[in-house]
Amino acid sequence: MHELPVINSILSVVLKHAEANQVQKVVTIYLQVGAMSDLEDTWMQQYFDHLSKGGVAEGAKLVIERMPVVMRCNSCGHSFEINIKDGTKPVCPSCSGEKHSLVSGREYIIKNMEVL
Ligand SMILES: [Zn+2]
Repeated sequence: MHELPVINSILSVVLKHAEANQVQKVVTIYLQVGAMSDLEDTWMQQYFDHLSKGGVAEGAKLVIERMPVVMRCNSCGHSFEINIKDGTKPVCPSCSGEKHSLVSGREYIIKNMEVL
């Protein structure tokens, strides 16, 4: 259940933007979510529907794009994308190092929104 606070903060950004631009209605919200975050699309939409009730963003559709997970090798500094779904331990393609730090993969970004 990590979706609720995330949706709350997304919604508040959306509403702030809507108010500043005198938006009548928010139709679609385009989000980029890191592949490593455990936010579920269905839950995000459900929480959003619940939280946005009665406001300009009520009924808006979330379009969620998953962003790749990027790691940086601790030994050589090389950055590379990993596929977290294949289950294998990521190895640096440059030096075969096995110790890495997460660069991106957990963030969520409001990329764009469609409004009336
Ligand atoms: Zn390396």
